[in-house]
Amino acid sequence: MGARPAPYLDDLNPAQREAVETLDGPVLMLAGAGTGKTKALTARIAHLMLQGRARPNEILAVTFTNKAAREMKDRVGRSMGHAIEGMPWLGTFHAICVKLLRRHAELVGLKSNFTILDTDDQLRLLKQLIAAENIDEKRWPARQLSGLIDHWKNRAWTPEKVPASEASAFNNRGTELYDYYQRRLIELNAVDFGDLLLHMLTIFQTHDDVLAQYQRWFRYILVDEYQDTNVAQYLWLRLLAQGHRNICCVGDDDQSIYGWRGAEVGNILRFEKDFPGAKVVRLEQNYRSTPHILAAASGVIDANEGRLGKTLWTAETEGEKVRLIGHWDGEEEARWIGEEIEAAMRGTRGMRPIALNEMAILVRASHQMRAFEDRFLTIGLPYRVIGGPRFYERLEIRDAMAYFRLAVSPDDDLAFERIVNTPKRGLGDKAQQRIQTTARAHGASLLDGARILLSEGGPGGKGGAELRRLVDGLDRWHDAVRDPETGHVELAERILDESGYTAMWQNDKTPEAPGRLENLKELVKALENFENLQGFLEHVALIMDNEKDRGEDRVSVMTLHAAKGLEFAAVFLPGWEDGLFPSQRSMDESGLKGLEEERRLAYVGLTRAEEVATVSFAANRRVYGQWQSALPSRFIDELPADHVEVLTPPGLYGGGFGAAGMAASASPQIMTGQASDLHDKASRADVYNSPGWRRLQARAQSRPMSQPRETREMVIDAQAVSAFSEGDRVFHTKFGYGTVEGIEGDKLGIAFDKAGTKKVVGRYVVPADA
Ligand code: ATP
Ligand code: MG
Repeated sequence: MGARPAPYLDDLNPAQREAVETLDGPVLMLAGAGTGKTKALTARIAHLMLQGRARPNEILAVTFTNKAAREMKDRVGRSMGHAIEGMPWLGTFHAICVKLLRRHAELVGLKSNFTILDTDDQLRLLKQLIAAENIDEKRWPARQLSGLIDHWKNRAWTPEKVPASEASAFNNRGTELYDYYQRRLIELNAVDFGDLLLHMLTIFQTHDDVLAQYQRWFRYILVDEYQDTNVAQYLWLRLLAQGHRNICCVGDDDQSIYGWRGAEVGNILRFEKDFPGAKVVRLEQNYRSTPHILAAASGVIDANEGRLGKTLWTAETEGEKVRLIGHWDGEEEARWIGEEIEAAMRGTRGMRPIALNEMAILVRASHQMRAFEDRFLTIGLPYRVIGGPRFYERLEIRDAMAYFRLAVSPDDDLAFERIVNTPKRGLGDKAQQRIQTTARAHGASLLDGARILLSEGGPGGKGGAELRRLVDGLDRWHDAVRDPETGHVELAERILDESGYTAMWQNDKTPEAPGRLENLKELVKALENFENLQGFLEHVALIMDNEKDRGEDRVSVMTLHAAKGLEFAAVFLPGWEDGLFPSQRSMDESGLKGLEEERRLAYVGLTRAEEVATVSFAANRRVYGQWQSALPSRFIDELPADHVEVLTPPGLYGGGFGAAGMAASASPQIMTGQASDLHDKASRADVYNSPGWRRLQARAQSRPMSQPRETREMVIDAQAVSAFSEGDRVFHTKFGYGTVEGIEGDKLGIAFDKAGTKKVVGRYVVPADA
């Protein structure tokens, strides 16, 4: 043994090597972000195979996402110098359990071809059960029951095992309904996500022979992101590892971010108890991030209590401080980040050019993504959304676009097919076929086919009446598109209302529906940036098409949760505002638990960055269609000042596209320090008077200023009401751009581009071209 060359061992440090070469017995690698845990775990897999300890199919390796599994497979292949043929048991808990359960389904009363229900199906089933029990679904919603059942499944409680302390749940009926639900699933030959693991756990607990078979079969067990396993997963692993005890888990308590889904960071602490004599390896060198980024991340996570505590150091050179910038709204934040990305691609501030693949935007909530996607579509910047479809590929967006397409071009048959029975109009396959046949017989479009069919008297009943309404609607909307008097944004809203599409989602009670409605609102909002509907459709079509041949180089957009384990040269962290990040829910909670989990999420976000991390926030944000002013996140206060550089919001110079705004984004270092002070004076609106913002200013002002004071005063003078005259273009910190219509005492009458006409106090206004 050991005769084979092992280049993959050469680039490990001694602690990592120890973790890789201790092949027998339990190993726990407990270490901070970027210390090479995943790298060591991957090397360990290669080592096991090259040492002849296990064949690829005898290794059970659990990763947190499918993407992580693919990457790990690639990396193992590279370490071994050749692609590995199948590692069937390298994947997520779910993926692994589906395979196992297909083999043993009959042991829990299922057939091997069982169906996996999605959330919608699950809710529908629960609704039926609730109705059958004569429970008022309005008071006791299915969604609540579904959450409860998930929670119990995460804790490995089958209906019989739910403890008595939970008896009062769901109006004292929770346990009983859970039992009915499980029985019904078996009758339907179906499982939900939670069942995949729970059934396998039950099988292992009740069939010693099956358990023994897999204990022998999986000779080595490896688990990445161990801090986010829930009780059921933990018990499942413990059973499998109990025989040979060859289990290696890696994790970081500071990165536990799935508590809301039942993950128990305590599993890490229990490891040494469950597996006495476990080798515990601590890694302390961070290979990922610059010292400033690492120090900033450590500063934030320090505020959490009850941490295991870890030392982290890096041999990297100093690099950039974490950059911090405030914007006036979310759109502007997106615009600025778009420009920063383009600047980074070219190479700015003496830095190397950074490829799009090496950059990511990590958001707290998925509704933040729209602004970025839209901006990137507008400027033609290729991007990918990880962990979900891109905005314009979402179901509801494609439906809505199909309506718009038909309003513009009534011959668009693909669009017609898409929406003819969405929402449901009682036009099933048969009716649709008749439309098709009629259209073909007359060489007409589907819409005209439908028209002809109607004139010939069919289809009858509800379907016929509804089809007539649709055809009339499409005619009306088509006329409106051609009418120069009709605003396209308003028309778009009308189409969605009159077609019944909006109502369809309003009446939908699944958890996804509110998000879909929100996306539709975002879509309408996006239209504002275009002259007409046609221009918008062409724009989206062109860019979507272009993207196909753009190759793989794209900037990634994803949630912080989805970013776990990943790394990027440059990371943008937008939306650091109280109520968004940390989330309102975590702030409303009485204890610190939620807030501490949010803080760990901040730590995860910052530690994804190798070279540049940029934190930003907006003073105003539109949430669910409502403008709200926001305060900078409390986490911003926790960033240690020495490692942060405060940049200047371009809006203060007349928006991101003003001359100064451009300069600020192309070479931010010019504006730093001196301009921040200017910012102090130029923006006295309420939000900027918040304590959070003030602390930021104090921070920025503590740097040397090179700009002479006079320059700043000039700008301030310019804000006196007398400095404005009718017709001037101005910028207001809360209402955005507008044109002065009149002057009255100390007030200006301004027609704002977006906010309508208002009387405002002069000192909140600056010339748009200042
Ligand atoms: P996270 O907690 O974020 O999942 P991690 O501990 O799993 O981080 P890795 O992703 O394995 O860290 O490694 C972080 C980076 O450091 C990777 O780019 C990896 O290639 C590099 N790295 C790890 N160990 C070494 C080493 N010994 N020498 C050089 N580079 C290393
Ligand atoms: Mg990792």
